[in-house]
Amino acid sequence: MAIQKTEAIVLKNQDIRETSLLVTFFTRNFGKIQGIMKGIRGNRGKINNSLQSFTHSNIVFYERKRGSLHTISQCDLKDFFGNLRKDLKKTAYAYYFSELIQGFLQLHDKNEDIFNLLLNSLIALDEEKIDTEIVARIFELQLLSLSGFKPKIDCCLKCSNKVKDKAFFSFNGGGLLCAGCVLNEREAVTITHDALFFIHLLESKKLSELLHLKIASSLKKELALVLHQFMQVHSGKKFRSLRFIKQIECLKD
Ligand SMILES: [Zn+2]
Repeated sequence: MAIQKTEAIVLKNQDIRETSLLVTFFTRNFGKIQGIMKGIRGNRGKINNSLQSFTHSNIVFYERKRGSLHTISQCDLKDFFGNLRKDLKKTAYAYYFSELIQGFLQLHDKNEDIFNLLLNSLIALDEEKIDTEIVARIFELQLLSLSGFKPKIDCCLKCSNKVKDKAFFSFNGGGLLCAGCVLNEREAVTITHDALFFIHLLESKKLSELLHLKIASSLKKELALVLHQFMQVHSGKKFRSLRFIKQIECLKD
């Protein structure tokens, strides 16, 4: 049983007994892991802070080779993202990011680029003047790219021609179709050239270079619709936190 140390972000926690928590972490060095933290009676307040969803910590755990459940022996808080937690919409998005990571990655699937994407997206949400939806669209597109589902939007998926006029996005094909090739394609929607431009931009630049972009609200809605549908098709999952985000947005309208 090896002792391991790594940076980690809490994806999910669950009480299993009065004194134990089952925690799913996304770690920098070991990918997604699950572990049990025992003996937290009397210490619950302090430990709970470092084990709450999407906190960033340094953890020490006993690695068990045969089973997937490790024993977490230490969890030292690095960042609680306190600003983000004061804002309901940002908190909902942080839960959504955690849910996406759980849906897209398998246990022990190490991916340091995705770890940095999650960490930097949480740091961005913690900033006061930040457009939450832009952070979310960058997160979604870069997560898709880094997990092998980068949208193919340079030319039509079927005929390989450049699409200059009316363009369509095929969810099953994961990319662009021209008006001639979209016939008989059931899972496709129209997509504007502005949306295609932003998909290309958001997936290809660093998060820090994109955070202060201004995007019209109609375009933000279009990007959100296309990306949410695309992610559900490719992960085979419906994301519960997304339903909650939609409810919050309805309250505002
Ligand atoms: Zn075509």
